[in-house]
Amino acid sequence: MLSCILAGTQGQLIMNAPEHARDLARAAVRPEELVGYEMIRRLVAFPTVSRDSNLALVEWVRRYLEDLGATTALTFDDERRKANLFATLPARDGNARRGGIVLSGHTDVVPVDGQPWETDPFEATLAGDRLHGRGVTDMKSFSAIALAFVPEFLRRGLARPLHFALSYDEEIGCIGVRRLIADVVGKGIAPTGCIVGEPTGMRLVVAHKGRKTWRCRVRGHEAHSSLTPLGVNAVQVACELVAWITQRERAYRDGHRHDPAYDVPYTTPHVGVIQGGTALNIVPRDCFFEFEIRHLPFDDPDAFFADLRRYADSLVPAMQAVDPAAYIEFDPLSGMSGFDNDGRSSIADIGRACCGSDVAHKVSFGSEAALFHDASMPAVICGPGHIEQAHQPNEWVSLEQLARCEAFMRRLAEHLCVA
Ligand SMILES: [Zn+2]
Repeated sequence: MLSCILAGTQGQLIMNAPEHARDLARAAVRPEELVGYEMIRRLVAFPTVSRDSNLALVEWVRRYLEDLGATTALTFDDERRKANLFATLPARDGNARRGGIVLSGHTDVVPVDGQPWETDPFEATLAGDRLHGRGVTDMKSFSAIALAFVPEFLRRGLARPLHFALSYDEEIGCIGVRRLIADVVGKGIAPTGCIVGEPTGMRLVVAHKGRKTWRCRVRGHEAHSSLTPLGVNAVQVACELVAWITQRERAYRDGHRHDPAYDVPYTTPHVGVIQGGTALNIVPRDCFFEFEIRHLPFDDPDAFFADLRRYADSLVPAMQAVDPAAYIEFDPLSGMSGFDNDGRSSIADIGRACCGSDVAHKVSFGSEAALFHDASMPAVICGPGHIEQAHQPNEWVSLEQLARCEAFMRRLAEHLCVA
């Protein structure tokens, strides 16, 4: 998950710093008051960096849930080194497929290499009111608290099914969860909605932008720089394309299709890498650049790309008149759709009730929520901790945030349970 600033639906920015100050000012929460504290410590102790296997964690959670009566299914990566876990606790009447809620979290964490940690990142360590450890914010605490509340949900009796979706490889592009969702849809399981526990400071998020990324490769023709008409300058062709993207960025900025609920309220194309040429006295043969578009859910990234492709095609005949081998090629790198349920779905109503607030937020970072949303499982995002602490050395979450997550689970029980 990439860093961002949360924005309120009225367009005002809601910075996180005052929130932290309030967290600290509240009456201290003691760890022994938290239902999920030991479960967080347990999950953090599995070093599930994305490049490594997550099977030990998944197997442990699977046994835990099966002992509580869940049915479980694993979907693996190609090498069977990693797995998603989908688990279902049926309603008291036996219903395991219709309605109910998915609680979703990714099991992987970002690496700690080169970061100056003051404690063992894979042993959750309490210092004052802060629990430190890799993944305490992004995002094992939400999953752990949800798991720890299962006995409570069962004691009260589930009126509708409760599902857990724990994925692999979220941090490297929401890769794993796609297989889990395909499996769930294929089995005809149709939950009412999904709560993704990414760190939002326990605020309800009902929308985020989408993102698509590409690499563009330009092949020109080398020549002595005193003879530029005999060459095709790949750097300059690339720059014409970059200038087109910049113009389009201004058009989105100056256009009318804004959503003021976002910190950046319009779609933003962006070029992040460019490389080309070898020496000033050579007309460069090769240049490449990488670019992205972070788009509001109602803007079409493919239309943006089709326009760029058309513009590139218009440049190619002049290049090939000099050298028929010249070209402009595009490689898609990654894609993540945006989503916006505009706060009107029933899962948004449930989220509002569980958060105890009517305010819904929209953010610019991506998550698995969009993939659930695309598969007809309307999603919201709400989890403990703040995005500023994610991916950092000495990653931490306040006990107060954990207590708020537990209050959320207690209110969720009102919805999920018989009494
Ligand atoms: Zn995350």
